[in-house]
Amino acid sequence: MSIIRFNALQETLNRKPIKIVASEKRSSLFGNNVFNKNAMQQYLSSAAYESVMDAIVHGKRIDRKIADQVAVSMKDWAMSKGATHYTHWFQPLTGATAEKHDAFFDTVNGGLPVEKFDGEQLVQQEPDASSFPNGGIRNTFEARGYTAWDPTSPAFVYETTLCIPTIFVSYTGEALDNKTPLLRALQAVDTAATAVCRYFDKNVSKVNATLGWEQEYFLIDEALALSRPDILLTGRTLLGHSPAKGQQLDDHYFGTIPARAMSFMQDLEQECMLLGIPVKTRHNEVAPNQFELAPIFEEANLAVDHNSLLMDVMEKVSKRHHFKVLFHEKPFKGINGSGKHNNWSLCSDKGVNLLSPGKTPMKNLQFLTFFVNTIKAVSKNQELLRASIASASNDYRLGANEAPPAIMSVFIGSQLSAVLDELENVTKGKLSPQEKTDLKLNIIGKIPEILLDNTDRNRTSPFAFTGNKFEFRAVGSWSNCATPMTVLNTIVAQQLKEFKIEVDQLIEVKNLKKDEAVFNVLREYIKASKKIRFEGDGYGDAWEKEAKKLGLSNNKTTPAALKVKTSKAVIDLYEDMEVMSKVEIEARYEIELEAYTKKIQIESRVLADISRNHVVPTAIIYQNTLLENTKNLKEIFGENFKNIAKEQIELIMVISNHITEINALVNKMTQERKNANRHSGLKSAELYCNQVKPFFEEIRYHCDKLETMVDDNLWPLTKYRELLFTR
Ligand code: ADP
Ligand code: MG
Repeated sequence: MSIIRFNALQETLNRKPIKIVASEKRSSLFGNNVFNKNAMQQYLSSAAYESVMDAIVHGKRIDRKIADQVAVSMKDWAMSKGATHYTHWFQPLTGATAEKHDAFFDTVNGGLPVEKFDGEQLVQQEPDASSFPNGGIRNTFEARGYTAWDPTSPAFVYETTLCIPTIFVSYTGEALDNKTPLLRALQAVDTAATAVCRYFDKNVSKVNATLGWEQEYFLIDEALALSRPDILLTGRTLLGHSPAKGQQLDDHYFGTIPARAMSFMQDLEQECMLLGIPVKTRHNEVAPNQFELAPIFEEANLAVDHNSLLMDVMEKVSKRHHFKVLFHEKPFKGINGSGKHNNWSLCSDKGVNLLSPGKTPMKNLQFLTFFVNTIKAVSKNQELLRASIASASNDYRLGANEAPPAIMSVFIGSQLSAVLDELENVTKGKLSPQEKTDLKLNIIGKIPEILLDNTDRNRTSPFAFTGNKFEFRAVGSWSNCATPMTVLNTIVAQQLKEFKIEVDQLIEVKNLKKDEAVFNVLREYIKASKKIRFEGDGYGDAWEKEAKKLGLSNNKTTPAALKVKTSKAVIDLYEDMEVMSKVEIEARYEIELEAYTKKIQIESRVLADISRNHVVPTAIIYQNTLLENTKNLKEIFGENFKNIAKEQIELIMVISNHITEINALVNKMTQERKNANRHSGLKSAELYCNQVKPFFEEIRYHCDKLETMVDDNLWPLTKYRELLFTR
């Protein structure tokens, strides 16, 4: 066994779980390090408190004097929690989070040391952020970008730093981050949904989108993970033969959580409590060493921030426990990958979940309105929704017979399918009294109040209704939820806006009653979006064929999926909803293509390195042993050695063959990479996707074959068996 592999295994086997002592009840820890309503009430004057609340609820501006007050109080509060520094915490287009820490410490009046933090520092900062991706925005416009306080997501103290959630925009106002478009999309859906809600309840004045994500991840021992150059540099294994035992026994799912993983989770959960992340569920996932963590759902902006924060905290806590967290969607071949289900709904300021059926026919009509409009929005914008979850890493998971396919479809269960089928037959125009009664009593009246427990579950659907929310399941475990949430809320906003216009027209022009108008429009929507509804097995080949016939899109790769993002329809959509301008859209497209190209480029280089510098030399060493052995046999047995050393000779030839293939394939791949590098943008991404990437599987095939032949003592790379089953 190679020294690295041997040492890594030794280190792993000697580890003990760290004992986590819970000092207090979880509920008394919750939000302790968050500048939330409680803390604000304690630290702010009532005028300042009112002003911040006004900003949170109504988006009102906070004036400079008040901002100064808030800053001082925030600093005092943060220092009471041990903070010495502050940072504007933001989400640049790398998909990760960014922070630059400044000390409260300062000197005034020629050297007097003090702790200082004022309104200006709270509200706006100008990080020297020229290295963040900007898709050319800051070259063509202004060189500077700045961060601005987002009061709707509360500040928090992590370790010794006060973190202030901010948006990141260019000097001319273009979004350079994930949060800005999300906030605009949430505004759009609020406006559109509130207007529609008022058909049913005049008192509604705000609608919030809600998000409950479910984060899947792998935990691999740090020493084992670091012994693999591919995990270290790409977050996944590029090689590795399947172990004799994988997940075929299904013995990991919901099984007992291994002791070290459990101690990591307890530690993590305590950190989450302090940070106000309402984590609730933890369990083993399907694959060995794969787990899931889910919180109670929250308002979407906060939930997105909390997921980004969680991923950061997981990395930090895992180090204490000598684990490496893998967020990659497909870290291991032949074993389930990881997703991040996004459970989404809309909730009015009267506390009503708009996607939850109610007790009365009226409540159910409201439910059906939002339900059908969402389906229509997905149907119309399936390609954009697919694009919102496209990434180099998620491509390895989507459609891999374990994850939703790249075809977007909506699952709603048999009960609701029956309701929609009935509604399709509602008479056009005015309804007879008989029909009205029938609708109320027998169709929408029959939607059970609690669908939650009796909706059939279909795990293979990318977008499923689960009783009181939709669950977008195609989102990747590594992605920032902001992107799919921006798209989903934008398309639903536009759909609801259109719906309102159509209903109003029927009321005014055709003189229909409100309910009649609503039924009339819904009927047309149900018809128009019928093909997106699919109740069968989304993993099967039959669906792929069927979907093609129906004309549903099936963009399997990121370069193919992203194209729609700059189509006229999408630009019109974003501009109409005031979520993004053409410049912002095009910048993002460019950034995403580049990220894709770079990821595949890195994987290709790492694979070339490992196969040439680790696998081939090891195979040669083993082959030399075989040659030596054969030579010795010849010396002793003379010409008869051919019979005696038959296996060895055969193996020598097979190894030679694999080595030859690996070298030839790596050379060809390198050529293709060189060619792709001569291009940029879409062309380069497409070449990486279609000309470079196909070599990965071919090269891997030969390397994995060698793994099964070469003496285990010589093999340099930690094996799947060790990565997945050493705890
Ligand atoms: P699973 O998908 O594992 O079977 P569930 O379907 O019960 O689990 O999903 C639970 C998730 O849905 C939780 O993370 C929860 O926070 C979220 N959720 C529940 N209600 C809502 C809602 N109204 N809006 C958004 N998310 C919700
Ligand atoms: Mg789920």
